[in-house]
Amino acid sequence: MGVRFLDAAIGNVPMGKKAVLFDMDGVVFIGNTPVLGVRKAVEELRSKGVCVLFVTNNATKTREMFVEKLGKMGIGAARDEIMCAAFGVTQYLRGKYGRRKARAFVVGEKGLFEEIRKAGFEIVNGKNMASDFVVCGLDREFTYLKAAAALSHLKNGAELFGANADATYPTEKGIMPGSGSILAMLEKASGKKAFVLGKPNSYLLEEHLKLHNVEKKDAVFVGDRLDIDIAVANKCGIYSVLVLSGIASAQDAKRAPFEWKPKETIRSAAQIGKVLEKLGWI
Ligand SMILES: [Mg+2]
Repeated sequence: MGVRFLDAAIGNVPMGKKAVLFDMDGVVFIGNTPVLGVRKAVEELRSKGVCVLFVTNNATKTREMFVEKLGKMGIGAARDEIMCAAFGVTQYLRGKYGRRKARAFVVGEKGLFEEIRKAGFEIVNGKNMASDFVVCGLDREFTYLKAAAALSHLKNGAELFGANADATYPTEKGIMPGSGSILAMLEKASGKKAFVLGKPNSYLLEEHLKLHNVEKKDAVFVGDRLDIDIAVANKCGIYSVLVLSGIASAQDAKRAPFEWKPKETIRSAAQIGKVLEKLGWI
């Protein structure tokens, strides 16, 4: 199950191409455990000409690291099929700061540091150096001292960006605090409001569809959170499918406000074929 390199093919996707966008945590895998049947479902979609794309708020990894993680689960993916928050937030910042070598203070893990570095930003450390922006993702080694350093940058004029605002995320050990919880601490301490690129902001989904020349009406988004995944798909006009393998339960879906109601609910992403059959796509 090798890595497929489709980068060269980007831009050559025929118009009207159908795509299924999968959220990853809670949909394709829980921690390092693949969700049963998803590999087969992905292969089936591809064999029927449906474009399979991945969109995740997870900012701990680069796109290449996700290719590797999926590969270990037997799911082949090309780098350009993945839109992760570390890459997405970096793309946005690149657009915002242009070619200027802006200085970044990063609260996050390896993937976010790498994407920021690859994009040509200067990463600064230490609370006495000024930076243009503080970018925050999940940091499982977050400390009070890091918070103090970030606060110092923010007080010195740095803008605050969040990879996502997820309060929690699912793991094999249960629900864990997400990067949104760290971001909330930085916001509270600094009094600054972060600009958040991850879902429910539509940026990651829209950028990814644009890259692959897929129109929203030709896309289905499969997610496990009502307030993030279903909310953003509904807001964008993308057909929303809830899976029950992650955060939200069937009860939650029933009680959800109108804007968070999924068009379809399935037990897991392994059943996505049934939804596409119903839509007449396959
Ligand atoms: Mg998820």
